[in-house]
Amino acid sequence: RSKGEGRGTYRFFEAAMHARLRERKAMQADLRAALRTGAFTLQYQPQFSLAGDCVVGAEALIRWHHAVRGIILPEAFIPLTEETGLIIPIGDWVLREACRQAATWPPGLRVAVNVSPVQFREAAFVERVQQALLASGLEPGRLELEVTEGILLTDTDETLVTLGRLRTLGVSLAMDDFGTGYSSLGYLLKFRFDKIKIDRSFVHELAKGGDAAAIVSAVVALCHSLGIRSNAEGVEDALEEALLREQGCEEIQGYHIGRPMPADQIDAFFARRAAVETRS
Ligand code: C2E
Ligand code: MG
Ligand code: MG
Ligand code: MG
Repeated sequence: RSKGEGRGTYRFFEAAMHARLRERKAMQADLRAALRTGAFTLQYQPQFSLAGDCVVGAEALIRWHHAVRGIILPEAFIPLTEETGLIIPIGDWVLREACRQAATWPPGLRVAVNVSPVQFREAAFVERVQQALLASGLEPGRLELEVTEGILLTDTDETLVTLGRLRTLGVSLAMDDFGTGYSSLGYLLKFRFDKIKIDRSFVHELAKGGDAAAIVSAVVALCHSLGIRSNAEGVEDALEEALLREQGCEEIQGYHIGRPMPADQIDAFFARRAAVETRS
């Protein structure tokens, strides 16, 4: 290979890198503007209790309505907001908006809000949660915060203090995507979460039997003996529901129950379900 060719390749990569940087900068500017222009919305996905045979609440999932690119899903922009710190104001908006909307739902229904580790570690986080509750009038017990195993990796003492302060506020705490991170069962003993959400990758494997089924039943059994609610994510059909019921899993969530939907549709969903539940 000649020297010239190498230089060409180098220029090519340099150009590609500059293009990527430019794209990131543009996306950052768009994200900053999005908060001002109201380009974020929340969709809600119902959560269903197998134990109680009723809808118990919904998880708030953020959507970005981009003028050119259409609806962008969180996995395509949350990482960038975490790197830039934009997740702090965006996460605060999510918290306030979810509490505000949930306060209008039928009494007793809970709203689950995802919290990034970056948000969780911010000094003012607990106060922000308190403010969102105060501003909305939502009973603290109806707010559930979903955190991932990522929060347990650093500053364990501080993490436990923050979790404890949140519990004192009266909010419920869920461990999201359980089994995909660096989970240590020891963490579950140090801090008693109210709920564990079994990641959908396990749920998906369930019907095939084998190891995933063994893991799901072990987690469900562990939850039972620790007095923690179990939720299985990504339940897509009746077979998966039946298998989870058999395992003694308490709660399910997934396309089989309902897809994430806009706020007005979740209102209609709750109303429809309430009618069915009173009839039966
Ligand atoms: P998550 O909290 O584990 O949310 C569940 C994801 O699985 C959602 O994707 C949901 O649409 C999808 N899902 C639900 N049921 C099914 C199913 O039956 N089959 C399949 N294949 N998928 C299903 P979404 O909305 O794209 O969100 C992805 C992730 O982005 C969330 O995972 C959560 O970690 C994060 N996220 C969403 N909203 C927020 C937010 O407001 N703040 C933060 N920090 N993160 C958020
Ligand atoms: Mg979640
Ligand atoms: Mg999850
Ligand atoms: Mg996830």
